[in-house]
Amino acid sequence: MLTPLADAVLVRESEFIQTQTIVVRGDDGVLLIDPGITRAELRSLADDIRGLGTEVAVGFSTHFHWDHVLWHPDLGAPPRLGTSATVRALDELLQQDDWREQIAEGLPPEHADDIPMELLGELTALPEGTTRLPWAGPDIRLLEHRAHAPGHTALLIEHARVLVVGDMLSDGLVPFLDRAAAHPLSDYLAALDLIEGALTQVDVLVPGHGSIARGAEMADRIALDRAYVEAVRDGREPDDPRLGPHAIHDWMRDVHRGQAAAFAGRD
Ligand SMILES: [Zn+2]
Repeated sequence: MLTPLADAVLVRESEFIQTQTIVVRGDDGVLLIDPGITRAELRSLADDIRGLGTEVAVGFSTHFHWDHVLWHPDLGAPPRLGTSATVRALDELLQQDDWREQIAEGLPPEHADDIPMELLGELTALPEGTTRLPWAGPDIRLLEHRAHAPGHTALLIEHARVLVVGDMLSDGLVPFLDRAAAHPLSDYLAALDLIEGALTQVDVLVPGHGSIARGAEMADRIALDRAYVEAVRDGREPDDPRLGPHAIHDWMRDVHRGQAAAFAGRD
């Protein structure tokens, strides 16, 4: 169900690791950010948008990972945008013969048969260095960085004081570092600095997965992600509730063990 979040901004939470989908009302239809996961969800999202008396004018994917680039015919066939680095990374993946198998390894088994792969990733690249979303609607600034995935982009919905951050700043997931990056840790820390610099302009922060943060909790999320990345870099065990006895996802400790082994001492 789409729920109002701020003026002209609505949100829908998926059952799959609390994936957050954002809808922003524009002049000629809505902007749809990271549409969601299962066929049933995407159909219901399309129904909800029709129920608002409008349609999808443009899609946007915060980054190229499969759970952010899905689509369904009921959402129509508007342009679906990503940064040029996002589209390059996606094209590189889709050119590999076994991309379906690569994605299938990460699919949640309970939803695997209900995830529509047919329209995955048909994105159009924005010009390199685009800092404002080109669309007929409220002004949206694009903050592109290199944490977690190439081309990863946060969207600052200025009038509504909402920041959509993609796969960072989750209360359930520790930072997922990019094994393919040349500087996965310093890139991550630089992205946290970039997002921290935008916090004075927002009241609400929406992570790609996890619960929405408001007010002082936004800075707390940044501090927690920064402490995690620094601990991994320095080979220390992080003091992080996402890995503790009350962790939201018990499999996060395995993710952390793998990252601690792969990234200690890197920059
Ligand atoms: Zn991701």
